[in-house]
Amino acid sequence: MMKVITITKEDWAKGLERLYDSFRLLGPVKQDEFHNFRQLAKGELPDLKLLNTRLSAKSMVYPQSEKMFEFTLDENRDDHHILKEIRKDYSPQAVIGIRPCDARAFLLVKANFDTPEYKDPYWIKSYEATTWVGYACNTPCTTCFCTTAGCGPFHEQGLDLLLVDAEDYYLLKILTQKGEHLLTAAGWSSKEHSDDARQEMETLKRTAEEKITARISTDKLKDKKTTDLFDAPFWEEVAFACINCGTCTYVCPTCWCFDIQDETLGLSGIRMRNWDSCMYPLFTLHGSGHNPRNTKIQRVRQRFMHKLKYYVDKYGDGIQCVGCGRCIRHCPVNIDIRKVCDLMNNFEV
Ligand code: SF4
Ligand code: SF4
Repeated sequence: MMKVITITKEDWAKGLERLYDSFRLLGPVKQDEFHNFRQLAKGELPDLKLLNTRLSAKSMVYPQSEKMFEFTLDENRDDHHILKEIRKDYSPQAVIGIRPCDARAFLLVKANFDTPEYKDPYWIKSYEATTWVGYACNTPCTTCFCTTAGCGPFHEQGLDLLLVDAEDYYLLKILTQKGEHLLTAAGWSSKEHSDDARQEMETLKRTAEEKITARISTDKLKDKKTTDLFDAPFWEEVAFACINCGTCTYVCPTCWCFDIQDETLGLSGIRMRNWDSCMYPLFTLHGSGHNPRNTKIQRVRQRFMHKLKYYVDKYGDGIQCVGCGRCIRHCPVNIDIRKVCDLMNNFEV
């Protein structure tokens, strides 16, 4: 049975201090009006007074821009035009305060980056070097619909530890060996498991789940014919207001697309990969000049078809969305995936 322990807020802070000796610590920090994840300086504590971060935690494993190789164009050097791998730091890191939806999102993304046929070394090494300390949502946002997207405010998949704020103290559930290891490094392993703490956590979980009233229906997506959904008449209306800004894909924890580019400055060059977005026309532009998704409707349709139909059919693990609600909160023209999902799920020819 998994252990649940109680930690005073003072011991929590002291334990984090100890962790700096064995981990790089990353956590949410307030920048202007939003929280975002970043590496914490020694002695700095994550700011847990947040609903959720603006950008998801995906960049903790998969940076928005990542250098892969370097090269020189200087023909006086023997190694000119030879790509050399850039060494990276994969020493242990711990992400403190990730919401359960973002942690589960990594498992959906893993289906793309870590498959039997294809292994992305950067993503895998970074993911495996990370210990995930989740932070349960006692007060979910009004746009969250995680409970009907295969997730929940206290969901445990993808986490090593789950922290719950019980106002005067924290409850901490130990979920994996990695979690145990962090517990020991922080000096919390001497705390006794208690059934009262487990009960309290269950009660807080039920209360939080009841607060989530936004929901989606996904039960009929798998049985729909792909071509029927592709040709459905509602795409024009869905896409009408979209300005193809790409915000929805950049804030999303489950969007994984990237582009690889060579950048040079003088005689030095790097090969890097950068997040890309299916909402941009260049994303699918062929070298011939032909673009199979030349119009906005085609691109908007692609985003929703990928998340709510292609992924469902290909992986058999639900939709490619954890219900974090970020794309709804940050879309400048209020396009709402919950409405599109209902349109798709209920569509009849
Ligand atoms: S955030 Fe909204 S407007 Fe921007 S690309 Fe996404 S759906 Fe379109
Ligand atoms: S599609 Fe929207 S709600 Fe779903 S995981 Fe991505 S940002 Fe969150």
